[in-house]
Amino acid sequence: MPKSLYVSRVAHHYWEEPVISGKKGTVAVFFTGCTLDCIYCQNREISHNNLGRKVTIDELAKEVTLLLDKGAESLSFITPSHYTNGIIQLLDIISPTVPVVYNTSGFDSIETLKKLEGYIDIYLPDLKYSNNDLGLKYSNVRNYFDITSKAIEEMVRQTGKPVINQDGIMEKGTMVRNLVLPSHTKNSIEVINYLAEKYGDKILFSLMGQYIPYGDAKNNKKLNRKITKREYEKVLSAFESSGLNGYCQELSSASEKYIPEWDSDVL
Ligand code: SF4
Repeated sequence: MPKSLYVSRVAHHYWEEPVISGKKGTVAVFFTGCTLDCIYCQNREISHNNLGRKVTIDELAKEVTLLLDKGAESLSFITPSHYTNGIIQLLDIISPTVPVVYNTSGFDSIETLKKLEGYIDIYLPDLKYSNNDLGLKYSNVRNYFDITSKAIEEMVRQTGKPVINQDGIMEKGTMVRNLVLPSHTKNSIEVINYLAEKYGDKILFSLMGQYIPYGDAKNNKKLNRKITKREYEKVLSAFESSGLNGYCQELSSASEKYIPEWDSDVL
C-alpha cells in the first residue's frame, strides 16, 4: 500500500461479537490492503484489489468523530497493521472515550505491536492455522504460525485478561478468532487446544462458521464448499470442552448478505 491512508469503508458495523458491537454498534474503519493473501478471502476487493479511497488523518478524524458522536460501543480498526503510524496520530487527535479495537489478520510484527501499547484496548486477531504449512498453502506467507503465535503473546501481554463491563461490553483484553474451513476441522481443533493450553481464561475465543468459497478457493478441491453442520458441530464440541470462554457464530451467518458495501473509488 502507498504511504497515505486508504480506507474502504468508515461506518457503524453491527455484526461483530456482541461484546464489541453491543446495541449501538462499533464505528468500523476498514483499511484497504492486508498483511495476508488468503485464497478464500471474502473481502478480496478491498484486501487485494485496492478498492478504497485516500484520506488524510484530519479527514478521517472528522469522519470518525462524527460517527462516534452519534453513539457507539467501540471504535474498530480493521486490517490496520500497515497503517499503525497513521492510527496512532489519529488516536492522538480524537482521544476516543470508547474501547479501541485492533481487528487484525494476526500476522503482525512484535515491533509494530509494541508501538501500539497504551493505544489499543482490545486485540482481535485471527489464529487461522495451527502450523506454518497451511499458512503458506492458503495465505501465501512463510512462518505463519511462528509469527502469529508470537504476536498473540504480545497482545495478551499488553491487554491482560478480558474485562467486560456491566453492560456486557468488552473494555479490555484479547479475543482470538478462528474461521472453520471445509475439510479442515483438525486444524481448528488444534488451534483451540493450543489456545486453551497456553492461555485458558486469559483470552476470549470466537469460533466462526461463515466460510463461503471465494476467488481461487472455488477451484480448490478442499475449499470449494461451505462447511457442513457436522464439521461445525465437531469443532464446536472441541471448543465447548476446551475450557475457553467466548462466542460462536450460527451457521446461517455463511451468507453474502453480511459482506458490507465498500466505498467505490479505486486506487
Ligand atoms: S486475513 Fe482476512 S482480509 Fe486478509 S486476506 Fe485473509 S481473509 Fe482476507
